[in-house]
Amino acid sequence: MRNRQAARSRKPRRFVPLLVLFLLIAAVRILMLNGADDPPAGSPSDKTEQAGNRPGGDARGGPFRILIDAGHGGIDPGAEGASGAEEKDMTLSVARKVYELLRNDPLYEVHMTREDDSFIELEDRADISNDLEADAFLSIHGNKYDDPSVSGIETYYDSSDSLLLAQAIHDKLIRETGFNDRGIKREDWTVLALNERPSILMELGFLSNPEEESRMRDPQWQDRVAEAIVDGLNRYFGG
Ligand SMILES: [Zn+2]
Repeated sequence: MRNRQAARSRKPRRFVPLLVLFLLIAAVRILMLNGADDPPAGSPSDKTEQAGNRPGGDARGGPFRILIDAGHGGIDPGAEGASGAEEKDMTLSVARKVYELLRNDPLYEVHMTREDDSFIELEDRADISNDLEADAFLSIHGNKYDDPSVSGIETYYDSSDSLLLAQAIHDKLIRETGFNDRGIKREDWTVLALNERPSILMELGFLSNPEEESRMRDPQWQDRVAEAIVDGLNRYFGG
């Protein structure tokens, strides 16, 4: 099927290098025109003007740099779950699984803000994303609430540039887990607000809900969540 499609489209493909060259020149010209009066990086006013962060708007076309951010760590345990387990362990476990799935995929260049139980300031996590010029920053968390019956997944974004990324991954998470859909929400969490790159924060479920927590600690559930995140990335980047 693939071969036949390739044969059929051989002729038009001759024009693809020319089109790419044209788009590159156009992108460079736009960058030069905008560069002169850019507001300082990180200021609130430049958030809505980062059109270059959209997939396809990136002249590189891949590999896409993915930065996985396991929430909390070290002296910051995060939320204490119903069982007494700490959020920082669940987030690292899921982050490692996403890393493993992306590691050998040529479409991606994958990084982690932490690979072990170490403490990293929120500001530093955003800095890593900005320095790396990540194409997607994915912060992994578990939620907590006083009422143990509250359940479900929430995905947060801040800059409007990140909404498509949030939608692509949130949809897959809901479908894969069957968890309650608490929606996609806009919030200026530090790791998102200081991030100049497409960035989202996922609350994968409520650790304060005993039933939900026991599933979230199950390695097989974590495998499925990691796959859902990768499926969402593939959809977002059109892979
Ligand atoms: Zn958290």
